[in-house]
Amino acid sequence: MEQNQDKLKEIISHSKEYGFIFPSSDIYDGLAATYDYGQLGSELKNNIKQYWWKAMTQMHQNIVGIDASIFMHPKTWKASGHVDAFNDPLIDNKDSKKRYRADVLIEEYIEKINKKIIKEITKAKKRFGETFDEEQFRKTNPNVLRNASKIESIEKSMKEALNANDLKGLRQLIVDLEIACPLSGSREWTEVRQFNLMFATEIGSVAGESSKIYLRPETAQGIFVNFLNVQKSGRMKIPFGIAQIGKAFRNEIIARQFIFRMREFEQMEMQFFVLPGEEMKWYDYWKSMREKWHKNLGLGDTMYRFHDHIKMAHYANAACDIEFDFPMGFKELEGIHSRTDFDLKQHEEHSGKKLAYFDPELNKSYVPYVIETSIGLDRMFLAVLSASFKHEILDDQSKRVVLRIPPALAPIKAAILPLVKKDGLPEIADEIANQLKFEYNLQIDLKDSIGKRYRRQDAIGTPICITVDHDTKNDQSVTIRYRDTMKQERIQISELPNILEGHLGWKTLLSNLTE
Ligand code: ATP
Repeated sequence: MEQNQDKLKEIISHSKEYGFIFPSSDIYDGLAATYDYGQLGSELKNNIKQYWWKAMTQMHQNIVGIDASIFMHPKTWKASGHVDAFNDPLIDNKDSKKRYRADVLIEEYIEKINKKIIKEITKAKKRFGETFDEEQFRKTNPNVLRNASKIESIEKSMKEALNANDLKGLRQLIVDLEIACPLSGSREWTEVRQFNLMFATEIGSVAGESSKIYLRPETAQGIFVNFLNVQKSGRMKIPFGIAQIGKAFRNEIIARQFIFRMREFEQMEMQFFVLPGEEMKWYDYWKSMREKWHKNLGLGDTMYRFHDHIKMAHYANAACDIEFDFPMGFKELEGIHSRTDFDLKQHEEHSGKKLAYFDPELNKSYVPYVIETSIGLDRMFLAVLSASFKHEILDDQSKRVVLRIPPALAPIKAAILPLVKKDGLPEIADEIANQLKFEYNLQIDLKDSIGKRYRRQDAIGTPICITVDHDTKNDQSVTIRYRDTMKQERIQISELPNILEGHLGWKTLLSNLTE
């Protein structure tokens, strides 16, 4: 744990040092839970967006994208349930004065028990070697069984309390489990209270209840209210999807852990409209598509796990999270929800407008069901950054810090390095850049020794360095050096476009996603 907190601290300081992420309003000592993306961070963020956007829209004939506004009619949030039910159950520790989400405290407690199970399994795996049968071990080992049943019973109690909105029961569970404040170690807890997460503001010049509007807490509702606009204008046929990337705002009380939990953040959401009754088929389809999208980045298959929801949101009939192994442990990165026709029906009721689809094949109208995939862009950024950040000891015992960012997402795709600042070499670097700049973000770096320049590019995750030397003038050849293997090869300048496309082009990354 200690070590992981250190890793997060290191990532935060690396991000600031190299221009990935700055605290917001830094010169005023920052503003809690808000961050600014710097010159490299915004490139990486844009590339993650593009990877998602292309995978959703370009790769699927039946998915289109929109960009809805942040402000929406106030009735939207009444209809969606956010005014009445978008609450977090909060509890304060009386000694440390720290505030926690009651459900998160319990989930962290469960995770501790889960770790015990994993430890037991790892030990047994070592002992039994090849012949180890994990499934059998889980079914028979008394320690594992005892802990698994403990988890089951806590989850059951928590689910009951959350579903019944039983705040006293939730507090009692924390007391019964003897959960202590991670900061003070004290078990003195206040009552649990509900807290609405939406930011409200006023529209126009007259203050008062009638002019109150909200900053959207999710992008999804902009898609629901546009469902028929898109369907009709795009002549879409069910099943079809609408994708969107945009800002969302939540007044998170417990806003820690860097960009994992922010008050202003970005979501990438896709609502897929299907024939009622077919939703489970599409739920499974999108679970596997999203898994493929993540694993295709090569951050490591063991970095992901699925987690079925304990408490289903009021609108869902199936829901799971894709969790990622962040420096703070496994946490939610993306949610996949089967939302039934809840949202469209609610909007029909509150707006008085029909939101039914006429199905020409079935010759009837119906309100479609919805499968939603919803991922936090900033969390995805943290996933990429934290899994890529490595300290390495090289063969000659020297050290390097390298960001092994998936090549297609790297902020700078290639650095062009003239060996010396004279003899016409910088001019050749310019010529190479002028050929490649239409496709790729490049950096020409003239300062310091080549070794230092390589280290600098490693630290910002540049996949390829191209070195121009005196031979280049005679034979049009350059040395290219790969970030991950540090292998170098001599190639012709004319080969660069193909090499770059193969190593880090969109086609290379996206072609693995075709079904
Ligand atoms: P959590 O349980 O962590 O609060 P959530 O279940 O409320 O998240 P959703 O409403 O399902 O989250 O939102 C979809 C996605 O948006 C999440 O999977 C997450 O990646 C992202 N997200 C939600 N809240 C935040 C936040 N405060 N900061 C950054 N990303 C967020």
